[in-house]
Amino acid sequence: MDYLPVFLNITDQVCLVVGGSDVAYRKCRFLVKAGARIRLVGLEIDESLKAFLEQHSCSWQERAYESSDLDGCVLVVASTCVEEVNRQIHADAVKRNLPVNVVDQPDLCTFIFPSVIDRNPITVAISSGGQSPVLARLLRARLETLIPANYGKLTAMAGKFRDKVKQAYETVNERRYFWEKVLQGPVAELVFNNRQAEAEQLFEATLANESGKPVIGEVYLVGAGPGDPDLLTFKALRLMQQADVVLYDRLVSEPILELVRKDATMMYVGKQKSDHAVPQDQINQTLVDYAKQGLRVLRLKGGDPFIFGRGGEEMETLAAQGVNFQVVPGITAASGCAAYAGIPLTHRDHALSVRFLTGHMKDGYIDMNWAELMDPGQTLVFYMGLTGTSHICEQLISHGRAADTPVAVIEKGTTNEQRVIVSTLEQLPELIVSCAVKAPSLTIVGQVVTLHKTLDWFQTQSDSTSG
Ligand code: SAH
Repeated sequence: MDYLPVFLNITDQVCLVVGGSDVAYRKCRFLVKAGARIRLVGLEIDESLKAFLEQHSCSWQERAYESSDLDGCVLVVASTCVEEVNRQIHADAVKRNLPVNVVDQPDLCTFIFPSVIDRNPITVAISSGGQSPVLARLLRARLETLIPANYGKLTAMAGKFRDKVKQAYETVNERRYFWEKVLQGPVAELVFNNRQAEAEQLFEATLANESGKPVIGEVYLVGAGPGDPDLLTFKALRLMQQADVVLYDRLVSEPILELVRKDATMMYVGKQKSDHAVPQDQINQTLVDYAKQGLRVLRLKGGDPFIFGRGGEEMETLAAQGVNFQVVPGITAASGCAAYAGIPLTHRDHALSVRFLTGHMKDGYIDMNWAELMDPGQTLVFYMGLTGTSHICEQLISHGRAADTPVAVIEKGTTNEQRVIVSTLEQLPELIVSCAVKAPSLTIVGQVVTLHKTLDWFQTQSDSTSG
């Protein structure tokens, strides 16, 4: 370690800032956040900085730095544009044993400012030892996504109940076990969702439960999006990393499964077409059973749980059996595939509405009111339509949609293997066979498909075939 990470208490302490530019302004904001009283000296001070200092009852003087400015200070920051002055400030501060930071000059710093994630009272500080502040910032951005915005509230609640928990459990181990459960379970989830009063009630109830385990577990019905892990929501990722048991579908991609907590129990409940690996009611009951054992159960589904995902049925079972659950939306295949193929689903000039349909065949037939789908200004998106492609195209044409209506089939959308095949209603069935299209694939019908060609960038992204 090149530096010692510490958190300084500078509340009501005088900190000297030399310089009046936007860089000095940034440092002042940082120091004021931590409760410092700022003394600022600079040859030219930005008006906005002056206003800021006045607003926070801090003093400033528009003049050159003098070593007596250090009197009574606990910390010094220099950001003048004159190298000699910066060196002088550094030397003066070192002589007085004051911590000093000269902006962008690591050799003149006895301390450096970290990149900070602020979930007051939780503070995470990241440093690259002055070697690459940009890298530290990028890392911060990553960590920001993992720490819910309401983490501070959870911390405050933990502080509030600390003594009570101490009284309830004798040993440190018992207390630690209790806190680990509570700070990652349903109580925490309620706080993250701004349901403070309910969270406190559940906290009390959990504490009253002698075993120290949450009264009941919880089920997360989470949409994992169409394939690209970058399309996960922050919430999905967080729940994926705290689940005890995971029930996942065939559609959940490998790179997404990689992001699930490593020691979670993984259960594949996926379905191949006409081969229901685990019957739906059995899945529903498994979710309930695990939750009732006090576990956090993640039901991870491709796309969005409520779009052709049977999430509704799972939710009904959970509600009927009194199991806590949350539903986390995901990017549905239609949105993901359309975006990655450069096909806007609606467009002022081409389509004013869009319809999501299932092209699932039963006994060689799709139960659909075809006559309703004739509006040329409506985009149609068929999920699960690969086997039924010929039937879909025939029916649309025979009920009145033009044979040359543009169609796109997107195979393995948003993944590295995405393929976009563009054709017409008339020619698509043949092309599906000659291109050997595989599941999962999605079919988009309508004028908007013509826009795929206008976006060259996407042509290079996907191996596109025009028919
Ligand atoms: N709940 C899911 C849909 C489940 S139905 C969602 O919201 O996306 C399964 C169908 O979704 C597949 O048959 C296919 O039509 C479509 N699908 C899912 N992921 C896809 C992908 N990456 N590329 C193309 N189609 C996809």
